[in-house]
Amino acid sequence: MSHALSNLSVDGGRLWRSLMDLAEIGATPKGGVARLALTELDGEGRRLFVRWCEAAGLEVEIDEIGNIFARRAGKNPSLPPVMMGSHIDTQPTGGKFDGCFGVMAGLEVMRTLNDLGIETEAPLEVIAWTNEEGSRFPPCMMGSGVFIGKLGLAETLAKTDEHGLSVGAELARIGFAGTRKATGHPVGAYFETHIEQGPVLEDEGKTIGVVIGTLGQKWFDLTLTGVEAHAGPTPMRRRKDALLAAARVVEAVNAAALASGGHACGTVGYMRIHPNSRNVIPGRVEMGLDLRHWEAENLDALAAAVTARVAEIAERTGVTAELTPTADFPPLSFDPECVAFVRAAAERLGLPHRDIVSGAGHDATFIAEVAPAGMIFVPCENGISHNEAENAEPEHLAAGASILMHAVLARAGVVAA
Ligand SMILES: [Zn+2]
Repeated sequence: MSHALSNLSVDGGRLWRSLMDLAEIGATPKGGVARLALTELDGEGRRLFVRWCEAAGLEVEIDEIGNIFARRAGKNPSLPPVMMGSHIDTQPTGGKFDGCFGVMAGLEVMRTLNDLGIETEAPLEVIAWTNEEGSRFPPCMMGSGVFIGKLGLAETLAKTDEHGLSVGAELARIGFAGTRKATGHPVGAYFETHIEQGPVLEDEGKTIGVVIGTLGQKWFDLTLTGVEAHAGPTPMRRRKDALLAAARVVEAVNAAALASGGHACGTVGYMRIHPNSRNVIPGRVEMGLDLRHWEAENLDALAAAVTARVAEIAERTGVTAELTPTADFPPLSFDPECVAFVRAAAERLGLPHRDIVSGAGHDATFIAEVAPAGMIFVPCENGISHNEAENAEPEHLAAGASILMHAVLARAGVVAA
């Protein structure tokens, strides 16, 4: 990059105003946003984004799963586009920044390049992926999943919400059932900025997280079956208490993750107790286990340790245990060149940064399966997200968007004036 471009930054005030304007659509009284995928409000947010893109001179296309692509031409139209993006759907009690930051940062990069009259070799695109949250229509990362061919278009369009409304019908209703083919598009590279959704950057006083990859995940359903019996007449030693076994499993999952160290995470996030009555010894418990690790072999070892402990606990408590794997995502490393562009940009702009691993999946995790990809994290207040209290500093968001711009220019190539 030429010297004149070396300290470029985006317009942080304009980025912030766009985020705040978008957050008014579906704003909650507690300061958050409830804009679930493919609702009327999602449609309104999408239309605002499209208007802004068109005002910035971008060419907008909608694909068959409702992903929105806004393109800025490059000097060389035969090159595959360098993409930026994230999502604008939220959780029911979501915040203003999760996802929206990545999309608004991409738009702000386009606006800044327009202001400065900078032309790139490769075309650029900013994308709002459909239904990243998966809250109304599981699974999550739906739009990017269809884009890379991991999720089938027809079966995804047929997915329904709890009222029986389908993805396809709701896309049509809000006016975003597009005609561009969902799959088969070459990707030069993909960059996504996102709030960290964890406390590490804030704790260490870093502005930029250079994301090197995402944790692998293994999910299990566990059913523990004992014997329902009266809480009074049944002596302690005669009980087959499924909830007692479940409590020990919760403890064991936590202990196994702590013992595994590093980036290991182990969580029991839900439990259903049968019959769930005060004076009945629980006869059955269904629960969900979520294990994560950065190294595949350590994730395997963590899963093996938990599996062994579950068997042991079942034996000791006299219950039967049925452990069923429900998801298995290997750890993913982002493209070394994309990661290096992000790190170099942070250094060039003199921003405090550190390498970081994402504990959560993002659209970038899917795109990385088919193209070079990288991510940029910025701190969020107290590490909180998926919460109406989600918050981030305007200057951190501006810094993240500037890093995005530098990484994208490095990858796309700048046409010399
Ligand atoms: Zn997100």
